[in-house]
Formats: sequence, C-alpha cells, structure tokens
Amino acid sequence: MSLQQSQAVVLQVKDHGDSDKIVTVFSMEHGKIVLIAKGAKRSKKRFVNKLELFSLLDIYFAPSRHSSLMRLDQADLVAPFPRLRQNYELYIAASLLCELVLHWTREHDSDEDLFRLLAWALEGLSVPGVAVNRTIIFFHVRLLDILGYRPDLTGCLDCRVLGTPGVLYRFSPLRNGLICSRCEPRATANSQPLSIQTIQFLRRIQEMEQGKLERLQFPLAATREAIALLRRYDNHLLQREVQSWGFLD
Ligand SMILES: [Zn+2]
Repeated sequence: MSLQQSQAVVLQVKDHGDSDKIVTVFSMEHGKIVLIAKGAKRSKKRFVNKLELFSLLDIYFAPSRHSSLMRLDQADLVAPFPRLRQNYELYIAASLLCELVLHWTREHDSDEDLFRLLAWALEGLSVPGVAVNRTIIFFHVRLLDILGYRPDLTGCLDCRVLGTPGVLYRFSPLRNGLICSRCEPRATANSQPLSIQTIQFLRRIQEMEQGKLERLQFPLAATREAIALLRRYDNHLLQREVQSWGFLD
C-alpha cells in the first residue's frame, strides 16, 4: 500500500509490547490518527528522539492490513520543542492543549485551522519568557470558535443588556452565554459569576488577531476567572474532566 505523508503533532505516546510504540498524532491532512511504530522501543535508530510528546513531525505512514492502526514508516523532525518537556509549567500547558485536541477531535477528521492553531500555540509556549496563561486562554477561545461553541458574551441572553451598574452576570454553560441578575436573580446550576472586566477581556480575545496577542494586557483576576470559565465549559461540553486543568493550579 502506498505511503501517505503529513505534518503532525504528537499528542500521546504509549509502549506497546516489548518493542513497539503506539503514537497518537494530530495531523494536518488526516486529523487525529493512531499509528504503530514497529520496533521503536528496541531499535531506536529509525525513530530516535522523534516520537516525543508535542514534537512537530513530518510523518510517512500506511494503513495496516491487520489492524485499524496505521503503520508509521518514517518520521522527520520539523520542530522538537524540547523546552516543553523540560519545564514543568510548560509541560502542563502543552499537555492541556494536546489533551483538548485529543478529546475534541475524531479520528480521520481533518481540520487545518485547528492544526495550525495547535502548532502555533506549541511554538509560542516554547519561546523563552512566554506568558503561559495568555497562550492557553487564546488557544482555547480560538478552539471554541473553530468547534462552533463560541460563548455569546455580547450581553445577557434574555434582556441583551451588558454593564448595567449593580447588575451581576453569570455564564451559563448550558445556554452558552450570559444571564444577568435582573433576569435570573438566583444562580442556576453550574453557572459561574463573571466580572465585567473578565467579560470584556474575553470578548477582546474573541475579536483579536493572533499576531496582536502580545499587545493585550492580561489582568490577573480576569485571567483566573477566564481559566475557571473555560475549565467549567469544557466539563459541560465534553461531559468529562480534562485532567490537565487539575495540574495547572
Ligand atoms: Zn438580563
């Protein structure tokens, strides 16, 4: 069978038997795919230092006759991002991005925008002095856009007003938007209070171009609220806990 080629980010690596590895990647042309790297554990020659978490690779692979796994034939390093495996904070952040892509995608369902976003975020995290939370929040806001789950932060879903003095706002994961304390005086299950500052901060990120991210101020309180919101929203949409969020604290 003929070999296929694609750029791909390594999301997960597991040992398989005595000599093989199972590698899950998110590829540009084929989306998420699971590959078996024969002999990768025993003879390191072919795959030396390549099948590492977060690495950006050029992979060559073929469907296997005997299983649903693709057979990984060759992998060339495009960008290894070693800092992401050496620094604990960066490791957790990169793990979170990869875990989100793992949970949010189906096999063989390609999405070039998502692939580019992931590659951009991993590259950004590997730059010395990076603001880690900034990259996580921006990645996640864009991820929701790509998936079609953009939260509506333009105003209360019922009265359409935002910013009335003395009125509190809550984000409802169930309704995918804001509800104000005039329309719904009591907190509904799973909703999260959001300050006006955090709402405006998230809206600016929704409208922002990737290249201009550096210019945006990330106030600490808004950053914390935004991260809590994204975590809660993930739990609701995925109906499961994204484990890496727990390590981020
Ligand atoms: Zn309202």
